[in-house]
Parts: sequence; structure tokens; C-alpha cells
Amino acid sequence: MNAGRLARWAVPSSCPLCRSSLGPDALICGGCVRELNRSQVLRGDPPEGVDRISSCADHDGTARDLLAAFKFRRMTGLSGLIAGFMLDALDTAGPETLITGVPPARLRTWIRGFDPVALLVAGIADGSDVSLPVKPLLRRHGAGRQRGQDRAGRLARPPDIRPAKDSGRLIGGREVILVDDVMTTGATLSASAAALRLAGAGTVSALTFTRRL
Ligand SMILES: [Zn+2]
Repeated sequence: MNAGRLARWAVPSSCPLCRSSLGPDALICGGCVRELNRSQVLRGDPPEGVDRISSCADHDGTARDLLAAFKFRRMTGLSGLIAGFMLDALDTAGPETLITGVPPARLRTWIRGFDPVALLVAGIADGSDVSLPVKPLLRRHGAGRQRGQDRAGRLARPPDIRPAKDSGRLIGGREVILVDDVMTTGATLSASAAALRLAGAGTVSALTFTRRL
């Protein structure tokens, strides 16, 4: 392995999004933070079965680059930063409200080595009063491939998402905040919301970092 590259990894000195120089202990540069802060919270029409949705930014520019660095370059240290932006888009919610993520395709988690949505859920629960159930409320069956399909394909073949064991008891009729990193067609959020309702959820509110319009 190239030692120079290894050293750069250990002490990142440039912003992973725009490559401008980075202060000590900063994850991304001030310019990129300002760019992200300029985004207005998006509260458009929710996908079917979801009562309301909030997203931090369009799936474009700096927000999209940040998500890509987190997910595809495995920069898991960015999860707290992304969760922080998502907390700003979270409507006030108390400990009676539960939070859970859309369930990952198990093969993808295995290949990637981590579940990005689960990290975001943990970060949001940490920074708010909402309650993180002792285990995920949803489970994905089958391959559930959504990436690589076109919009019509995604809508025609929604992922097979079902309540996890004990979800009915854990939910107990309460409101659930459903988290995903990005909303594309809304098919995954809809399938997840339907499973949460099957398990007795009252209101289902979705929260995503970006929204692809
Ligand atoms: Zn930057």
C-alpha cells in the first residue's frame, strides 16, 4: 500500500466534497457547510401512505455530494453531520414518538459493511427526544433491488417490506418517524409506511436528507 495515501487518509486535510483546505477537526469545509445551510426544508406532497414528509435539500450539488461521500466512500464519520441537518428538519416530537429507518437490503449492507440509514437514525435519536426502539421495526425480504431500476420499474415493483417480529408490541399505536437518506420515487417509503401501519402505527412521518424531484 502507498504510505503517502495512507497518511492522507489518516489526517484528511482537504474537504471531501470540494477539496478546498480543511481546518483541524473539521469534516467538511465552511463553504460547504454554508452551502448546506442555505437549503430550505422541503415539505412537499408525501408518498402514498405517509402522512407528511420533510427533507433537508434537493438531491443535488453539495447535499448530494455529502451523501455520496458518506455512503459510497464509506466516510461513516459524516453520519453525525448529516443527522444534524436532519434534526433541523424534524418537527417537534417527544419520547412518545418512535423513530426507525427504512430497512436495508441485506446483501447491500454486507457488501458495504454498514447500514447508512441505521447510522442516521441513531444520530437523530441521540440529538432529539424521540425514542429509538430496542430493535428495527421493519424488515426487507428478498433482494429488493431499487437502485439501477428506472422510475416506472421502481413503482411497479416496490420492495417487499414487512413488520419485524414484535413490531406491533413495540409500536403500540404510536406515531413513527420513518427515516431514509434520499426520497426518489417514494416507493420504499410507501412500502415501509404500509408495513408500519400493519403493525399498528398511528401517524407515519417521513424524514429524508435529500429529495430527488
Ligand atoms: Zn467543501
